[in-house]
Amino acid sequence: MSTLTPTLTVVGGGINGLATARAATLRGWQVTLVEAGPLPNPHAASWDHHRLIRSHYAGQPHYAARMGEAWAAWDRLFTDIAARPYVPRGVMALSQAEGDWTDRARMAFEETGLPHRTLDQAEIARELPMLEPDGLRYALLTEDGGALLSDRIVEALLHWLAARGVTLIANSPVTAVDAATATVHTAQGPITADRLVVAAGVGLPALDPWFAEHTHARRATVVYADVPDKWQDAWSTAPAWVDLGGEDDLWGIPPCAGQPLKLGYGLHTRPGDPATERAATEADTETILMAYRDRFREIETYAPDRTVANFYLMAPDQSFVLRPDGPTLWLSADSGHGFKFGALTGEDVADALEGDAGKVADRMAGRG
Ligand SMILES: Cc1cc2nc3c(=O)[nH]c(=O)nc-3n(C[C@H](O)[C@H](O)[C@H](O)COP(=O)(O)OP(=O)(O)OC[C@H]3O[C@@H](n4cnc5c(N)ncnc54)[C@H](O)[C@@H]3O)c2cc1C
Repeated sequence: MSTLTPTLTVVGGGINGLATARAATLRGWQVTLVEAGPLPNPHAASWDHHRLIRSHYAGQPHYAARMGEAWAAWDRLFTDIAARPYVPRGVMALSQAEGDWTDRARMAFEETGLPHRTLDQAEIARELPMLEPDGLRYALLTEDGGALLSDRIVEALLHWLAARGVTLIANSPVTAVDAATATVHTAQGPITADRLVVAAGVGLPALDPWFAEHTHARRATVVYADVPDKWQDAWSTAPAWVDLGGEDDLWGIPPCAGQPLKLGYGLHTRPGDPATERAATEADTETILMAYRDRFREIETYAPDRTVANFYLMAPDQSFVLRPDGPTLWLSADSGHGFKFGALTGEDVADALEGDAGKVADRMAGRG
């Protein structure tokens, strides 16, 4: 280290850059955070009213296994920001066939002892009357999980960082990175520190050949819709959902925190260009609503309020990437499911700055 107080530059003001800046600040680093756009940046993957947090993880056991650590990390972060921007509505998934995603998530819960309950078809009809029960085997519910209020978390973190003397540089795109010297180049000139973390989300492929070769930006759209009067009571206490059976990867968040119902549709994501494809189309809205036919009763009576397109960075196997490169760490803990781990990712990266980064990278990616 070149100074008594070690210095760190973080590139990117999404949840992963902000949480890294927080964790490093708590450990005594002098941090400068550089962001291409405004802070907060409405184009960041981290910017929306809410992001789902859930323990259901079929086929990716190491993420399920880390959820306990993720919750503990959020508790620490919420203590720091003196707020709890989280709506604990619980999470449901629906099984239609033996061995389907929800069935495998249930088996994972049973193996790990994670508290959950199941509802049979009659119970679904009684407790979740807005669902179309035909073809369902059971619903898998957890009491934990729900909606992290991501925009409030990002804003609170920015205030926290500013109050602790972190230098926040907005509207300064990094045009090149010299990983070997932990230097970033911006229009205002170079910034060099002892260490560098590049958490630039979909900006990573433009800055580093590994990300250009192995990752891609995916365009994802969500519909916010008003619930018709008939189903308002049912939705007022309903959980978030992560899988409604079948292969179409339907997920979403019930009306909460002053926001309407949010409908996501995993199969409707596709590789896309964040520079030119940010406008959502009528076709996006129609496609997503159609996907909920025969899932939510009378979906045609729900009134779409707005449709939002955003982008996330997909890595191989939907994994999280931490790539040590001299004094630089390249970071993408995303693949479309990274927000829920954001607080933990910041702490992981701070560990990597001070210890064996390769081991931390393995921990984050579930290797070894
Ligand atoms: C529609 C949608 C729904 C999602 N739903 C969920 C969910 O329910 N639950 C969940 O856990 N996750 C979800 N995710 C994924 C989650 O949002 C992301 O994993 C997480 O926000 C990624 O955070 P990040 O900090 O890595 O990236 P970002 O939030 O994108 O932040 C990266 C920042 O880097 C900046 N940047 C880029 N290039 C440069 C540069 N050259 N110089 C300086 N700055 C630069 C960008 O402007 C941006 O602000 C969803 C994502 C999307 C898009």
